[in-house]
Amino acid sequence: MSLKLQSDYYDKLDNRFYTITKPSTVSNPVLVLFNSTLASELGMELADLDMKAEIFSGNYIDDSWTPISQAYSGHQFGYFTRLGDGRAVLLGEWKDKNGYLWDIQLKGSGRNAYSRGGDGRATIGSMIREYIISEAMHGLGIPTTRSLAVVQTENKVRREVVKTGGILTRVASSHIRAGTFQYAYEVGGIGLVKQLADYAINRHYPHLDGSKDRYLNFLDEFTKRQAKLISLWMSKGFIHGVMNTDNMTISGETIDYGPCAFMDYYNPDEVFSSIDTMGRYRYSNQPKIGIWNITRLLELFVEIIDSNEEKSIAKLSEIIKSFNEYFSYYYSMLMRSKLGLVKEFKGDLKLIEELLQFMYANNLDFTNTFRILSQNNYKNEEVFKHINFLSFEKKWMERLEKEESNIEKAQKIMKNHNPQIIPRNHLVEKAIREVEDKGDYSFVRIFMELLKSPFDYSKKIPEGFLKPMDLDEKVNYKTYCGT
Ligand code: AMP
Ligand code: MG
Repeated sequence: MSLKLQSDYYDKLDNRFYTITKPSTVSNPVLVLFNSTLASELGMELADLDMKAEIFSGNYIDDSWTPISQAYSGHQFGYFTRLGDGRAVLLGEWKDKNGYLWDIQLKGSGRNAYSRGGDGRATIGSMIREYIISEAMHGLGIPTTRSLAVVQTENKVRREVVKTGGILTRVASSHIRAGTFQYAYEVGGIGLVKQLADYAINRHYPHLDGSKDRYLNFLDEFTKRQAKLISLWMSKGFIHGVMNTDNMTISGETIDYGPCAFMDYYNPDEVFSSIDTMGRYRYSNQPKIGIWNITRLLELFVEIIDSNEEKSIAKLSEIIKSFNEYFSYYYSMLMRSKLGLVKEFKGDLKLIEELLQFMYANNLDFTNTFRILSQNNYKNEEVFKHINFLSFEKKWMERLEKEESNIEKAQKIMKNHNPQIIPRNHLVEKAIREVEDKGDYSFVRIFMELLKSPFDYSKKIPEGFLKPMDLDEKVNYKTYCGT
């Protein structure tokens, strides 16, 4: 049995975009997680378990594949750096039943041309983290790279302490990043930028292929996708944590599950990442950083869009300005849905803000507040008897009447937008500890099963999966990049 992959990159892109890389071999790989739902969505039939461990560890490379590591650059916390897949290898692209191409990439596959000082490896814990959160994002309906498999190895990975190694198989509609364009400009000017843009348009925006204003339209649609993506994050309380330009995909999928976390207690200034000391990537700053990153991409096209620089800048500026419009449109729609509101009226955002402020003032959990409000017995909860809530509730009911709705109708809508379950920080940590300390995967598997259908209110979720981290524990909770 082998996996039939293609290597579509080579025919089309300049060889400066990648380096042919063989993953380093590992000892005794064991397939510990396999996403059979994703495998069948992709139409991948892989029966032989031992062979899966060999393939998804990088030990087996079929003669027909040409694995590569991709080059890219990026602004990290505002500073430009040359990067690249320092610990990843793209085995090739899988074509699904509908003809779509999916990158099949191993993460934690050993040192390569882009590893700089790093060991090219990943700990099993951080790969479990990515598996849980990326699949949870998919369950929540947020565009994301997917996780197909996790392999545990006998190789030790040195971090602050010595840890067990892990390799994740990441599936993405591509790994082209805003930072890949920055790299293109850096090494080859607008010639390479155009080449990469043509490739990206063909792969992700095929309806624009060959059209006259395709570069401008591509940038406009990319901006729209990012605005939508970030509004989806915000509506589910997701904090990416490391919105560097190399962590922004051209496809509009969320990528890089390093220091990300779901907010529990609502706080617009929430930050979990240990290195984000200035709060650059805090919850409420995500749309602003979105614009900042998009601007870094758009400025590479100044010489391409129009030979007249002034005209070109004017056209690109229009797109940058439109981010706010797109973002407000999506954010308002998503947040209204969380209150069961379909139509749009002036003052809606103010109403939503009033509830958020109530959460903030009372240390309420973002997900649980909306979850409980989606159910008919919410009035029984002590916190919803608070005078400030009652004042909000009165306006909310009046607002529902304005669109000829009522609480019963609203709650039906709300249940499709307010998840019961999210990958809560303390549960993700518990899953990692069980694996790292005891080699026990049973908790991860139970957790993953629950995260698959977060909007299914007919499913009774055990209380332990619904509770946020205790407040005093949360005060010291930090997340980390690339461990
Ligand atoms: P990230 O913070 O995950 O976006 O990673 C930033 C850069 O560091 C990317 O170029 C990664 O490939 C690289 N990197 C992260 N961890 C390692 C590692 N253990 N070995 C080599 N490169 C790494
Ligand atoms: Mg990254």
